[in-house]
Amino acid sequence: MVCRVAIVGLGKIARDQHLPAIAATPGVELAAIVSRNASLPGTRCFERLEQLFASDTPIDAVALCTPPQVRRAQAATSLAAGKHVMLEKPPGATLAEVQPLAAAASTAGLTLFATWHSRYAAAVAPARALLAHRTIKSVRIDWREDVRVWHPGQAWIFEPGGLGVFDPGINALSILTAIMPRPVYVTAATLDFPANRDAPIAAQLDLEDTDGTPIRAEFDFLQTGPQTWDIAVATDAGTLTLSDGGKRLTDSGTSLIDAENQEYRGLYAHFENLVARRESDVDLAPLRLVADAFMLGQRRTVAPFIG
Ligand code: NAP
Repeated sequence: MVCRVAIVGLGKIARDQHLPAIAATPGVELAAIVSRNASLPGTRCFERLEQLFASDTPIDAVALCTPPQVRRAQAATSLAAGKHVMLEKPPGATLAEVQPLAAAASTAGLTLFATWHSRYAAAVAPARALLAHRTIKSVRIDWREDVRVWHPGQAWIFEPGGLGVFDPGINALSILTAIMPRPVYVTAATLDFPANRDAPIAAQLDLEDTDGTPIRAEFDFLQTGPQTWDIAVATDAGTLTLSDGGKRLTDSGTSLIDAENQEYRGLYAHFENLVARRESDVDLAPLRLVADAFMLGQRRTVAPFIG
């Protein structure tokens, strides 16, 4: 049976990734758009979720592509209307708001999928398999991008709950928590808040795993020129490097993987599968690390951000 999906929030990620991934995924089709401002020719469009649910448009699921601060209410409304829910990352603006959604989905026999798109990058599963058989000595994460290029006009990202530089940084943490054989936790953090914003523009994290393996993560939103989304894992058998957000994998310099980005196709294939089985997939580990960085982190005030 085809899973008929309504996209909610027709912004950057909906247009860049969700629309093409739905079109390319067997078993999934676009049935409607919910947008306060935009429409898509040839597709039924509604300004609000309630209007969609009150209409005769047949849908099975919603993909919430809105900012995290408004997603919980949209997810609760959708589950109450009997729809399966795909959540963009991060799954919520807070940790505590997600669990009741998972419970509601479970009670209703619906799917809640808290997506981590970076985990579907081509290098992630092979890296996890290789690291399962190696001794890890240290991990170094460098996630540095230009917020003006990748998030133009997205005021929500620097508002409370928008996560600031952790919006991309959590992608690195989603990969880290997928490839490490043991749980990891934050031991120290520094968060740089622009004087005129409510979320960090840079962050440095020290973490370790339960064997005491040191992990250093540096997130920066002000990198101009070449952009960096790299994770280097030093092991007893050489250094495994995931670069370009996990599209490429090298082992001590030897290329093992160099692939096109198929992350969102992977997400939709998994979602379709979960819906068919009426199961949920909600892993909060990356969001927990971000929350812990906020709890533990030293806050520094830096120059105002002019977008
Ligand atoms: P965006 O371009 O700002 O789009 C979000 C859309 O949500 C807006 O266009 C708007 O759509 C709707 N929206 C915004 N504020 C809202 C509000 N207060 N209430 C209801 N709807 C609102 O942001 P985005 O980059 O697509 O990011 C959305 C989510 O996807 C974020 O959680 C982000 O982390 C995640 N994500 C983004 C990227 C990326 O490359 N940008 C990559 C992966 C994941 P309408 O005008 O149609 O209502």
